[in-house]
Amino acid sequence: MKAIVFDSHGGPDVLKYTDVPEPTLRPTDVLVRVKACALNHLDLWVRRGIPGVPIPLPHIPGSDISGEIAQIGADVTTVRVGQKVVLAPLVSCGKCTACVAGLDNHCRQATNLGYMIDGGCAEFVRAPEVNILPYPENLSFEEAASIPLVFQTAWHMLVARAELQPGEDILVLGAGSGVGSSAIQIAKFFGARVIATAGSDEKLAKAKELGADDLINHKTQKIRDEVRRITNKRGVDVVFEHVGTATWDDSLASLAAGGRLVTCGATTGYEAKVDLRFLFSRQLSLLGSYMGAKSELHAVMKLVAAGHLKPIVDRVFPLAEAAAAHAYLESGSQFGKVVLRV
Ligand SMILES: [Zn+2]
Repeated sequence: MKAIVFDSHGGPDVLKYTDVPEPTLRPTDVLVRVKACALNHLDLWVRRGIPGVPIPLPHIPGSDISGEIAQIGADVTTVRVGQKVVLAPLVSCGKCTACVAGLDNHCRQATNLGYMIDGGCAEFVRAPEVNILPYPENLSFEEAASIPLVFQTAWHMLVARAELQPGEDILVLGAGSGVGSSAIQIAKFFGARVIATAGSDEKLAKAKELGADDLINHKTQKIRDEVRRITNKRGVDVVFEHVGTATWDDSLASLAAGGRLVTCGATTGYEAKVDLRFLFSRQLSLLGSYMGAKSELHAVMKLVAAGHLKPIVDRVFPLAEAAAAHAYLESGSQFGKVVLRV
C-alpha cells in the first residue's frame, strides 16, 4: 500500500510517500481503507521527535481517520465490510482499572493511532474494533476525519475538567486552531459567553460565525486588558489554554476569583510561572487535561450528527503532499483542520 513514512526525525522533508506492506490483523482488529486523515500538532511533535519518547521507526503518522471497513478480524462482531467509519484515536489496553472504569485516557498503556503505533497517513490502517465510532452521514470523509482528536480534547477539558456552566464567561485562546474552534462551539452549546482570541481579524470573523460573543486580536490587543474591559474588571470563569508560554501570564491574569484554567498543551513552550500568592488568595484552579474517554467522543458524535457541532476544514491536501500539509500547519495560517485525502 501507499503510505507516508519517516525513518528519522526532522522537518517536513523526512516524510516520504512510498510503498509499505499492508498491516496484518489480530482477531479483534479491523482494517480500514482510509479516505481522509486530519493533521494535528501531535503529528508535528511526532515527526520532529519528542525527548524521552522512543517512537518506533520507520513510522506512519496520522491520528484522525475516516474511511471504510476493508476487512474484519475473526472476533469482530459489531461492524461489516464496506461500512463507513470514523476512528477514535486513543488505543488503550481495555483491561486495566482505568479502562474498565471507562477512563481510557488514564490507561498507562494508552497511545494514539499515529503516535507509538502506525497511523492513518496510508491507504490502510489497523485499529481495534472498540475504536470504531458511528459515521455522521451529514459529513464528507474530510469533515468526519476532522472531528475526533480536537473535539474529544475540547470536550474533556470543558465538560469533564472545567465543568463549564451555563452563563459563565470563558476565554478561548487560539480560535483558529482545531481545539479552539471546537471549544467555541462546545462552550456555546453549554450556554456560556465566549471571548475568543486569534492573531488576525479574518480568523476572528470566522470565530464570530461559530458563535464567539467577544473577540480579541492578540497581535494588536493585550489579552488581559481586553478581558477586564469585556467583563467589567471581573475576569472570566474559565480559560481554555493550549498555547503555553506565550499566553500563560495573560491567561492567569484573566481569571476571575474562583476561576479555572484548563490546559491540554503548550504549542509555544512549556515553561510557565505561577505566583502562588495569586493562586491561593484568588482561589484559582489549574487543571490539566489529556485527550478524552471514548464515551465522551460518542457524545460528541451524536451532537455532530444532530448538527449542533460541526468540524471546520481549512484545507485538503492529497496524501502524497503530506510534507506540504505539515509545513502549512506549522505556518499557523489555518482556521480549523488541515486534512489529507487518501
Ligand atoms: Zn488500560
